[in-house]
Amino acid sequence: MSQNVKRVLVSGGAGYIGSHVTVELIEAGYDVVVADNLSNCDMTCFEGVKKITGRNDIPFEMIDCCNAPHVEGLFSKYKIDAVIHFAAFKAVGESVAEPIKYYKNNLISFLNILDAAKNHGGCNVLFSSSATVYGETDKLPVTEESPRQPAMCSYGATKQICEDILADVVRATSAYGDTVNAGTSALGPVKGIALRYFNPIGAHPSALIGELPRGVPNNLVPYITQTAIGKRECLSIFGNDYPTPDGTCLRDYIDVVDLAKAHVAAVARMLDGKMKKNYEIFNVGTGRPVSVLELVTKFEKVNNLKLNYKFAPRREGDITAIWADTSLANKELGWKAERSLEDTLKSAWQWECHIAGK
Ligand code: UDP
Repeated sequence: MSQNVKRVLVSGGAGYIGSHVTVELIEAGYDVVVADNLSNCDMTCFEGVKKITGRNDIPFEMIDCCNAPHVEGLFSKYKIDAVIHFAAFKAVGESVAEPIKYYKNNLISFLNILDAAKNHGGCNVLFSSSATVYGETDKLPVTEESPRQPAMCSYGATKQICEDILADVVRATSAYGDTVNAGTSALGPVKGIALRYFNPIGAHPSALIGELPRGVPNNLVPYITQTAIGKRECLSIFGNDYPTPDGTCLRDYIDVVDLAKAHVAAVARMLDGKMKKNYEIFNVGTGRPVSVLELVTKFEKVNNLKLNYKFAPRREGDITAIWADTSLANKELGWKAERSLEDTLKSAWQWECHIAGK
């Protein structure tokens, strides 16, 4: 490893988004350390990352970020220039049923990362947030200035709280001076970016990594692909009486590879000293609303198949419509979503076929 190569710790790097981000970071020339406790995934995607990048030497640390000494140990073992923190539980319904599990896991793991970052000379921290922080709003598309609404579930609350924790830690640690001490045991400043994702979907074009939900999927696209392959009998479209053009909900579906590239742009912004404030927030979406029915129809068309679906009652907690104003990310990160929805939906299907061995 050359002295100048920057190293990024990706917590939760074996998961769906983390694995795509690891690939893009490596392709952009960064060294990556993946930390994951495999609580919600197996090694399938990490193996896929090694194949895609041709790198067998990516360090993998099997740790639980809720274990403070283990996180400390990670920062002592490696000189870490930036952290991307994905390690968190993410099932909305489960978070309503088990709030303590969600608050404990999602908050403590992030606090441990921030504590270690601050104690080891400071660090750049990218937090994976969510458009869920905006809740239901009439003013669409949403900008980063749009007010956050009270969270509708504990999962959403953890995203809001973690954003606030990051903002506070950045403010409090700015007194520690510049990051000249990065990697040492001195106190140092934390700088932060929160990326608010809209609806990440799709898979890597290689079909070697993608989303691997455990049990019955909650999210739309895995439910579609599992129905198409015959794992599920029928897709329920939740609600066709919403005040939208075709009566189904509107969302901003962002391709996971495009999303991963936004992380690389944000990491570069932090490492190259281009931040305008020490804590910044960016929406990561396409800026384009797509209805559930449109998505289903497009999936059928581009993959040349028929999907068994029916209209069902609305799902509790769903909002009618949300999509991003992406102008800030476009301007400041020099990033925009590029992959077409057609290609994204093809990749989702290819991934499902790959894991089914077809
Ligand atoms: N949806 C659906 N059937 C499903 C799963 C989701 O009709 O089996 C709809 C859901 O009501 C929402 C959209 O698809 O309007 C996206 O839902 P998802 O759970 O993927 O993401 P969310 O926007 O809720 O975070």
